[in-house]
Amino acid sequence: MKNFVPLQKDPLIPLYNRPIQAVYRPGSIFKLVQSLVGLQQGSLTPLARLPDVGPMGCHHHGGNHNGLHNAIQFSCNVYFYQAFRQYIYHNETGNTFKDSERGLMRWRDAIGRFGFGRTLGMDLPNEKRGFVPDTSFFNRVYGRGSWKFSNWYSMAIGEGELGVVPLQMANLAAIIANRGHYFTPHLIKAIGKGKIDPKFTTPNYVGVDSTHFSVVIDGMEDVVKAGTARLAIMKDYIVCGKTGTSENKKGKDHAAFIAFAPKHNPRIAIACYVENAGFGGVVAAPIASLVMEKYLSPGVPQRPNLENFEKYMRDLNFMPKPEGKEAKTKKETEAKAASKTSPPDTRKEEAKPKNDEITPPDPAKRDKPDSTKKPVITEPLVRRVKDDKAR
Ligand SMILES: [Zn+2]
Repeated sequence: MKNFVPLQKDPLIPLYNRPIQAVYRPGSIFKLVQSLVGLQQGSLTPLARLPDVGPMGCHHHGGNHNGLHNAIQFSCNVYFYQAFRQYIYHNETGNTFKDSERGLMRWRDAIGRFGFGRTLGMDLPNEKRGFVPDTSFFNRVYGRGSWKFSNWYSMAIGEGELGVVPLQMANLAAIIANRGHYFTPHLIKAIGKGKIDPKFTTPNYVGVDSTHFSVVIDGMEDVVKAGTARLAIMKDYIVCGKTGTSENKKGKDHAAFIAFAPKHNPRIAIACYVENAGFGGVVAAPIASLVMEKYLSPGVPQRPNLENFEKYMRDLNFMPKPEGKEAKTKKETEAKAASKTSPPDTRKEEAKPKNDEITPPDPAKRDKPDSTKKPVITEPLVRRVKDDKAR
């Protein structure tokens, strides 16, 4: 009790349970969901080459729009703009406003089955549902009948109005690892000899055939082997992952990464969000990989030549400097927590999707951490980051 009040008043809100309460934009990780619902609908096929035109630029990666695998591996924005457009404007009536309404609701239902926009029903209180807009939301924002796909296309790449909680993203990794189903997340496995609520032991199917997962999983394998998350690679296990950068209007972007391993007979699925840390491949991917290493092979390091990596990760500090402690009242802290849980409001701003998936920032140029300790960056890490910049 002695420590509770100081913790409650701490401006960095340590009591705020981010994994189930913090709402972030999913960023490029959402391209995985877009792939799966598109494949299921039939508006997308694994070998589809989509036009390299749209409001989002392409960074002209290797392979140049060589199908879905390549688009996932290099996180191609323009490809997923086109894929989302095809999903929404499927079965056209000829009226883009009407088609947009229908498409939006169809898409909302499809991703709702993955748990987005709703609570998953975990055995912890105060789980948030994130945010997936519906037609009434856009009617309020733009007026009935006067909005269409071009107003919210940035959701194609996980930006714009979308909001997710990290638990939903870890669940997404589990859904992909299981090729189409998940078990409601829970901490308690049993109480004495009693059984837990059957809702925790019954699979929830997401409505995507298991055959559609192969191309997505192969793409995720190459994200780690030869794409945007090479820092997550493990010696003895095939890691499948996807990076993201979660746009943050209030400060520096958040780094995100989801993964599962091993590729065959997966044993762990994970999501990692690092607030204010920028590109997901540099920070979130190696942290997630380290956690997977501790789980899959305790005591057997999995990243050769990265012996100092754990220390490097520990020394990083992206915490914003707290404002004057005295000025913070409990009310302000609560208001801050509340504002973090509301859906991101991007209505007034033109969505400008980021195109930084392939060029992670150089850690050496990043703002100095608050800690006086200098991050220890091992040689291989520096080399890999430079390789990325050169692409
Ligand atoms: Zn591209």
